[in-house]
This record gives sequence, C-alpha cells and structure tokens, in this order.
Amino acid sequence: MLRLSRRSFLAGSAAAVAAPALHLDAASAAEVDVIIVGAGAAGIAAARRVAAARRSFRIFEAGPRIGGRCATDTATFGVPFDLGAHWIHNPDTNPLAAGAKDAGLDLYAAARGQTLRVGPRAARDAEIEGFLAALVRSQRALMDAVRAKSDMPALRALPKDLGAWQGTMEFILGPYSVGKSLAAVSALDVARQAERDSEAFCRQGYGALLAKLAAGLPVQFATSVDAIFWGSRLAVDTPKGNLLARAVIVTASTGVLAGDKIEFIPPLPKRQADAAAKLALGHLDHIALEIPDNPFGLQRDDLVFEQVNGPRSAALLANVSGTPLHVVSVGGDLCRELSAKGEAAMTDFAREWLSGLFGASAARAVKRAKATRWGADPWVGGAMASAAPGNADARKVLMEPLGGKVWFAGEAVHETRWGTVNGAWESGTRAAEAALRRLGALKDDDDKPARQKPRRRN
Ligand SMILES: Cc1cc2nc3c(=O)[nH]c(=O)nc-3n(C[C@H](O)[C@H](O)[C@H](O)COP(=O)(O)OP(=O)(O)OC[C@H]3O[C@@H](n4cnc5c(N)ncnc54)[C@H](O)[C@@H]3O)c2cc1C
Repeated sequence: MLRLSRRSFLAGSAAAVAAPALHLDAASAAEVDVIIVGAGAAGIAAARRVAAARRSFRIFEAGPRIGGRCATDTATFGVPFDLGAHWIHNPDTNPLAAGAKDAGLDLYAAARGQTLRVGPRAARDAEIEGFLAALVRSQRALMDAVRAKSDMPALRALPKDLGAWQGTMEFILGPYSVGKSLAAVSALDVARQAERDSEAFCRQGYGALLAKLAAGLPVQFATSVDAIFWGSRLAVDTPKGNLLARAVIVTASTGVLAGDKIEFIPPLPKRQADAAAKLALGHLDHIALEIPDNPFGLQRDDLVFEQVNGPRSAALLANVSGTPLHVVSVGGDLCRELSAKGEAAMTDFAREWLSGLFGASAARAVKRAKATRWGADPWVGGAMASAAPGNADARKVLMEPLGGKVWFAGEAVHETRWGTVNGAWESGTRAAEAALRRLGALKDDDDKPARQKPRRRN
C-alpha cells in the first residue's frame, strides 16, 4: 500500500483543486472502488454486496478476528460460547438465518417464555401471571410513547404500579435489553425497535454462522483505519499504509466514532459527531460458567429472571444448546462496575448470584468460568447503541453520507433493528447499495423485484 503522510495528503488535496491529479508514485497509487472499515456483521454484509456487484474492495479489521460483537469462542470450554450476540431474532425474515442451512449449520427454535425465581424458590402461578401482565403493560406504555411521539426517558413512560415485578421490568427492558438504565434511554428509540416475535439459536454459535457467511472475504486483520481523508480525494490511513478509494463504508461502533479513534480529515461535521455521541453504547456482558450434570434441574436454554427491587439484576441462560454451559448476563451500571474490577470480580458475582437463586452449592458446582468485557475492547467499547432521551432521531443523521463518499453502517445505523446482528447486516447491505449506486454499479431498478409478466388468458 502507498505510504502517504497526513501532511502530504492535505498538500496534495489542495493542489488537486488547481490540477485534479494528486502526485503519487504510479506504482503505489492503488485505488479500489470501496473500502470497508470493520469486519463485523455490517462490514461482512457490505463486502458481500460489493463482491456480488463485482466491484473491487478491501476490508480492514482492527482486531485479530472476524465478527466483531458476534463471535463464537470454542477454545475455552470445548463447546460454543457466543461472546456477544446469541439470539437470532425473527429467524423467518433474518437474512443471516437464511444462510445457515447452506453453511451446514444447525438452527433450532428457542422455547418461548421465561423461568422466574422469587429468591431461592420458583415463582408460583399467580406470580407468573403478575409478571406477564406487567410485561404487557410495560410494552404497551412504551408503544403509547411512540404514538405520542414522546422522546422522554423510557423510565418515565413505564407504569409505576407494576408491584413486585417493577424492578424486574426495569431490568429486562433496560440493562438486559439495551445495556442501560431506562432513565438514560429515549422511550421513542426503545419502542421503535422492531417486534421480536420468534427467536432461534445456532447450535454451533451465532458467531460461527456469521464467520461462515464471511468465508472467502479478503479481510486484512490487525489493520486499524486511523484516518479517513474525504476532501477532494478519498483515502484511508492505516499503520500499514494508505489506500485510495471511490467510496468508504465505516462500520465502527459509535463508541469508536465518539472516542475519536478514527480521525476524519476534514473533521466529522458537528451533526454527525453529535449523533454518534448521543447514541452512546450501553454495557452488556456474558459470564459463562461450566456447570456439569444440570444441578439446578433446568431445561435446555431456559431463560431465568428473578424478582428484584431494582435494575441491578442478572439473567441466566441455562444449559446452552444442551451443553453444560450456563451464561449469566449483566447489563447497565452493574455491568460497567463489575467489568472495571476485572474478570475475577465478574465471575465471583455470577457464582454468588446463582447461589442466591439455587442455594450455596451452586457456586461449588462451577468448574470453569470466563467473562466478556466488551467495554474494555478498544475497537468496540460497549454493547449496543441507544439514543439518549430527546435524541431518537440521531440514527437518521448517522445515515447521511459524508460528501457522497463515506457511508456509516452498523447496528447503530438502523432505525428499528438497532442493537442486533440482523440490523447491522441490513445496514451494511444498504450502505453498500448506496455506494454502488453512486459508483454507477447499481441502478435504482436493480433493487426492485422483477415485474411479473401478465399471465396469458386462454
Ligand atoms: C453481550 C452482547 C450480547 C448481544 N446479544 C445479541 C443477540 O442476542 N442478538 C443480536 O441480534 N444482537 C445481539 N447483540 C448486538 C450485536 O452483537 C451487534 O448489534 C452487532 O454484532 C453489531 O455489528 P456491527 O457490524 O454493527 O459492529 P461490530 O460487530 O462492532 O463490528 C465493527 C468492527 O469494526 C472493527 N473496527 C472498529 N474500528 C475500526 C477501525 N478504526 N479500523 C478497522 N476496524 C475497526 C471492530 O473491531 C469490529 O470488528 C449483542 C451484543 C453484545 C455486546
């Protein structure tokens, strides 16, 4: 790749105004149609779309592996442990689910419903009914906020008389679902999330599925894009050199964007910089515990919530895909605090929490443990992006391309499927199509289904 310093680029750009050729070594002045920043779900989808249009592209990934926040670890426990995404939402329409069979992977439907604990005992029927009623009322209240176009804190939209399940609702809809307290999230943003009416799991892991869909893509790992020049010439700067492009698709998280990990030259317009900051990442982590012989008597993939006074709670996914893996999820402020103390504090918390629900022997049943710390990942910085109250429209702003050359994609750039792998995928495909259209490689009609020929009447 061409080595071009920031200063020489700026000088070259200025010169290009008068004479539109940048002075580069002929041998090194490589240019591709599209550069894709990041090899998570959005980057993989974008690359596949550009490849399908037979345009040249490069994908730079700062980290050492594929998948970003959707990656499966099989090394730690010898069975798949999804470090990030695990639930395959709406599998009937999810574009990744469609590829599972061809990839030789095994998808199965997740059981509906949850297992509820009240302290160390199972919830009684009347308590379960109370929980379901509280859930329906909470969801309705959020929908009312959408109808009223109210961009208030989601916590304010929630009913206050949910009784014994108030804290559990605040946990499920806040830290567990979006990685933040509902007080810090826009009701409109939360309620706009597309309904998830069915769920599936991939026995080999959601990350394994995404990695299969990326097979054959020429990802350049351990190569961070440190700067994007989007003035009169378009180029990216990496520690290994620079590359010119006709379009750039940035799929880095809002944590990376707001953390100024990528320098934009000229600077990112205030509108977009503010939008990234208003879509701050929440915190959600998984603490995986190997617990053989099912001592809690739970079913495969049982999802367990507890009755609790406030949002500082956790959730358990037991016997993941029938393995001895039990995954405790922590979110929001509690997750941030535990993660800051380190992995040992996280696994200690999970052991103690399980002991509170299933008795003191639960902690002793744990053989091996591992916790994720997404907030500490320098190229992600958290879990999923949700809008601060009053800023539900920030996603639309991030959808606007920079100078018709740079597109943002990723989970944060989807209005209704944000915080999901399928949303990231769709936004990557959408950004690629917008870039291809700008390059003349795609006509507006190319996206539309072929018009059916009228049937001949006999
Ligand atoms: C704990 C957890 C649980 C979740 N559970 C679910 C779930 O069950 N179901 C679901 O659908 N979703 C879930 N999600 C959300 C889902 O994982 C994300 O929405 C999705 O994976 C995001 O994909 P993305 O492509 O937008 O971003 P990312 O996956 O973050 O990909 C961006 C990539 O860009 C790279 N990058 C960043 N900066 C640079 C740079 N400067 N140069 C080069 N590369 C760079 C990063 O290393 C990363 O690989 C979960 C997330 C977490 C953290």
